[in-house]
Amino acid sequence: MKRIAIFPGSFDPITKGHENILQRALPLFDEIIIAIGKNSNKQSFFSLEQREKWIRQVFKNEANVRVETYTGLTIDFCKKMNAKFILRGLRTSADFEFEKAIAQNNNMMAPEIETVFILPIPELSAINSTIVRDIVRNGGDATPFVPNGIDLKDIKA
Ligand code: ADP
Repeated sequence: MKRIAIFPGSFDPITKGHENILQRALPLFDEIIIAIGKNSNKQSFFSLEQREKWIRQVFKNEANVRVETYTGLTIDFCKKMNAKFILRGLRTSADFEFEKAIAQNNNMMAPEIETVFILPIPELSAINSTIVRDIVRNGGDATPFVPNGIDLKDIKA
C-alpha cells in the first residue's frame, strides 16, 4: 500500500520553513499531499489561488508531491485521500503544546492515522508566514524567507 501523507496548513504564504519540512519528509513517504485548509473563520491574506499557485511552482519538479485544497476536519480529508499520515513542523515549545493537543485528539478520532513531526533546521525555525505577511504589508522585502523563485510582487492579496 502506498504511504501517503497529508501536509496540512494555511501556507499564507509558503515559506522556506514549509519547503524544508516537505523536502526532508519526502524520503519517508511515497506521496505527500500539501493540503491548503479553507478555513471560513480565518481570513487569509493571500488568495487561495495565489497560495496554491506558489506551492505548485515550488514543487513542480517533485513527482511525489500533490497540492489540494480542503474544508472540514483534516482526518476526514486524510480518509478521503487514503492517507495514513499527517505531517507537521515543530518550531517552538508553543507549537509543541498546540500540536500535541491536535495530534492526540486526532488520534482519538482516527487511531489509524499517525501524526509525524519534523523539526526545522535552526536557521529556518524563526521563519513563519505571519512575519512574511507583516513584511509584505509594510512594503519590506520578504524574499529571503520564501522559496527561491517566488515573486512576492506577483501578489493578488
Ligand atoms: P497552520 O495555520 O495550520 O499552522 P501554517 O501554514 O502556518 O498552517 O503551517 C503549516 C505547518 O508548517 C505547521 O505544522 C507549521 O508548524 C509548519 N511550519 C511553518 N513554518 C515552519 C518553519 N519555519 N519551520 C518548520 N515548520 C514550519
